[in-house]
Amino acid sequence: METTMKMNEGRKRKRVCIEDEPSSNVNKLPTEMVVDILANVAADSFDAFFSAKQCCKFFVRASEDDFIYKRLTLNVLPDKLWWTPKKAKALVRRCISCGNAEALYWQGLFEFFSTLNLDEGINLIREAAREGDVGALYILGVIYVCSDDAQLKRGGGEILKKVHREGKVSECREKFQRVIESMWMNNRSIFRKKPSYACPMRAEHWKDGLWRSNALVRDGVHCEACIFQADSMFLYIHCPPAM
Ligand SMILES: [Zn+2]
Repeated sequence: METTMKMNEGRKRKRVCIEDEPSSNVNKLPTEMVVDILANVAADSFDAFFSAKQCCKFFVRASEDDFIYKRLTLNVLPDKLWWTPKKAKALVRRCISCGNAEALYWQGLFEFFSTLNLDEGINLIREAAREGDVGALYILGVIYVCSDDAQLKRGGGEILKKVHREGKVSECREKFQRVIESMWMNNRSIFRKKPSYACPMRAEHWKDGLWRSNALVRDGVHCEACIFQADSMFLYIHCPPAM
């Protein structure tokens, strides 16, 4: 028992704040520089940011800057939601208020596909796309293409062609699947039946397994029907109609 107490005392002594030490110059750094450094850490690693933040009081204060929460990566969010749901949700709200594209995307998918707050969901996804999240842009395009509204469908088609042209479809689909793993998918209102878009050259356009690949747009081929078919089927698999 005595030994344990001594060990604990030893640990306590080591946890002295850098700022409290007379030799420390950390708090003499310009705040903007520290914010930039912490923002880069936050964009790279969620856990590294929260460790860095604990280094000293100066870092704790600097880490409250909105710019950091705008850039914070949320790739470990599903785990955090599971273990500390209240804190994780508060963090998502903070990130959304700072324009964090990942948080907007995550919450947008949650509202649209899980809690069925469709307008709020689509607005958040749209906002994430405006903040430069290509995954959000892609799923927005897919949702539009699956709509009955002709104008939305046209707009969705243009979005999807752009994402296909940029070769980003696979990563967008992987990201979507990763995020929705932590959600109940309840939206049964998108499809009334299985999507079907006719293309007389389907065998040619799909010969290299294009369903899985990045590019239904390549070698000058921009086959809208095949793009609509592949991407709407991707969503259909996750959101089949009610029986
Ligand atoms: Zn085709």
